[in-house]
Amino acid sequence: MGESEGNAERTCFVRPRSQATIPSLRRLFTPWRQVADTLIAVHSPLALRSPRLSAAGFRHAFFTRLGGFSLPPFHSLNFASHVGDDPASVARNLSIAAEDLNVDAQRILFLKQVHGIVTHLAAPPLSLDETEKWQGDALIAREPSIACGVRIADCAPILMADPVSGFVAAIHSGWRGTEQNITGHVIDTLRDHGCHAHHLIAAVGPHIERCCFETGHDVAARLSRASPVHDVLHLGPRGRPHVDLRRILHAQLLQAGVRPNQIDHVRGCTVCDSERFFSYRRDGSRSGRLLAAIVPRKT
Ligand SMILES: [Zn+2]
Repeated sequence: MGESEGNAERTCFVRPRSQATIPSLRRLFTPWRQVADTLIAVHSPLALRSPRLSAAGFRHAFFTRLGGFSLPPFHSLNFASHVGDDPASVARNLSIAAEDLNVDAQRILFLKQVHGIVTHLAAPPLSLDETEKWQGDALIAREPSIACGVRIADCAPILMADPVSGFVAAIHSGWRGTEQNITGHVIDTLRDHGCHAHHLIAAVGPHIERCCFETGHDVAARLSRASPVHDVLHLGPRGRPHVDLRRILHAQLLQAGVRPNQIDHVRGCTVCDSERFFSYRRDGSRSGRLLAAIVPRKT
């Protein structure tokens, strides 16, 4: 096989350039160019952005599952190896996310998330090797050489930034975190560092939306009690309650003092949209994890 391919190649190159030869060269190289273009597209992370955070100059991303190196069932932009993925693939995924965010791969920081409200302040020379052992569900930072991240597979990621101080926050708010109002707690912590809530820009990313967030009556009642607004429960097609987590999170941001015109909703349901998102509810324990991350900027 190698010999015949070699002969074909030699035949092409030794013939004088002519009208007949150039098209045949094109036929030879075009498929390879297409393969190269496809590989470039395959390994370019597809991220969703908040227009308000972008306009304020904050590098950030709600990464989808598209554009990474992991093989099924973690295809392809998975950020967790503890679910059973090859750590080398996860490391390569972190590298392309780091390129997108323009930080070092070891400086994309995230925590061992435990559905609580503990918030950590991150600063250099911290690296991911250290912070991923810390328990907590929110990271704040002001140093532009690091990115604050959260990993999700149905829970809501919230990214926040203060254009005045340069502080950012990444929050992991599942139903337990939302019930405990982790968003309000993080804004209190930012206040302790001199931020004002009315300066904050917030973006709520893709998560299990109302269409798929069917719960038992107990969880629905707990979230309804914790919500600053009514009308967060809806009766689903199976006669069980569906919770509108996005509406609760929006209300919690307003309650904490964030202005309504400073809140973005980057929409997408992790359960319905299997093309773009991982979902624990849909795929169980062999589900990958999405990353949402934001980088502080100089003021
Ligand atoms: Zn859905």
